[in-house]
Amino acid sequence: MDCIVKHGTVVTAAGVMHADIGIKGEKIAAIGQNLEGDRVIDARGQYVFPGFVDAHVHLQMTVGDIVTGDDFASGTIAAACGGTTTVIDFTSNCRGDDLLEGVTARRAEADGHVAVDYSMHLTLADATEKTLAQLPALAEAGYASAKMYTTYEPIRLADGEILRLLATTRDCGILPMVHAENHDAIAYLTAELLGQGKTGPRYHPLSRPPLVEAEAAHRVAVLAQLVDAPLYIAHLTCRETLDTVLAARQRGQLIYAETCPQYLFLSQEDYERPGFEGAKFVLSPALRDRANWDVLWQALSVEQLQVVSTDHCPWYYETQKVLGRDSFAQIPNGAPGIETRVPLLFSEGVGKGRLSLRRFVEVCATGPARLHGLYPRKGTIAVGSDADLVIYDPDKEVTLSFKTLHQQVAYCPFAGRTLRGYPRMVLLRGQVIVQDGEFVGRAGQGQFIPGRPFAFH
Ligand SMILES: [Zn+2]
Repeated sequence: MDCIVKHGTVVTAAGVMHADIGIKGEKIAAIGQNLEGDRVIDARGQYVFPGFVDAHVHLQMTVGDIVTGDDFASGTIAAACGGTTTVIDFTSNCRGDDLLEGVTARRAEADGHVAVDYSMHLTLADATEKTLAQLPALAEAGYASAKMYTTYEPIRLADGEILRLLATTRDCGILPMVHAENHDAIAYLTAELLGQGKTGPRYHPLSRPPLVEAEAAHRVAVLAQLVDAPLYIAHLTCRETLDTVLAARQRGQLIYAETCPQYLFLSQEDYERPGFEGAKFVLSPALRDRANWDVLWQALSVEQLQVVSTDHCPWYYETQKVLGRDSFAQIPNGAPGIETRVPLLFSEGVGKGRLSLRRFVEVCATGPARLHGLYPRKGTIAVGSDADLVIYDPDKEVTLSFKTLHQQVAYCPFAGRTLRGYPRMVLLRGQVIVQDGEFVGRAGQGQFIPGRPFAFH
């Protein structure tokens, strides 16, 4: 063995055990007692988790003429420092763009710059014959999931397009994800609010309330049922949408859903912050009332929700969020979170008894790896898996602040919270890339990990 992680408490989605982990090259080669190797990492008193997987990030994403605040290097260095060793981003093609060219261009932006391993969801922005015809080869090339939007110009899809895409992704083993919000309802409510002079960030959640999300999720779930396709609901925020997911599952559908830390820790009260501060919390779907926190925690613990991802989409407050000073509808949607997901879920989930250790690993690592075709290479600790490990100090206390994080934008939506438990060391394919809170790897070391086709029949 090249390296042994000794005396740690090893946690996977299947169980908790005291064991040593032997690493040879980039892989886990043994799990057992009294292993020996050239190098020893002492994990006494620490948890050893699989490298965490963030299935929903928007790095270096262009919207109109602005770009999100983290590029592929800074965003993934931040991810690594928070215990995440695999991220899944998105292609950024719009309606009418050649999908294949979009994939090539996006890979050119990422390859050689990413600090952790990564995969990519396709963005499906139209359903032309040309787009549909390109999907089988893309599935073969490792694009195992694809996102569809029911809102946002110029990427939103009509129901007929969604149906054609669902039928084709079904046939080539691509898992479809959906950003579910009713576009016309948002447009109507936004016009009403602005017409009444209600322009501040506090009106953002009123322009896209829970029913707007639940209606679109239900509609797309029904479309998926019509063509017998699986479906993954991105960033589920509330009871109303959860109910539609559970109803679809009750009808026998293969339907999955993720939520994000912002929906577990923040609420629409954050839009009431003084001045224009509420703009920092403008993201979509919007933050909900606090009653939804317990709904989502409970749904995670009883396996009604499968994944916690971040939807990391940071905009600079001073130069980008302010574009919406005169209208909440012009505030760029999104917030940072790539580095804080795992510590938040551990401290407030495991630490407060809301999630078991196993379930924590499942929703933050194993679940996303499995659904997006990366398991068992990623998302677990097993012989033959990549040696992506997080040595986690359960007692380290950290008070969150953008100053201690590695992201570019100068605010943290969760600032001021003191968390118990933080990554002490992070290994990517056998190499230490984070040591005591600092990144010691190299941007560009990340490899593209092709997703395996989603098998649902
Ligand atoms: Zn997103």
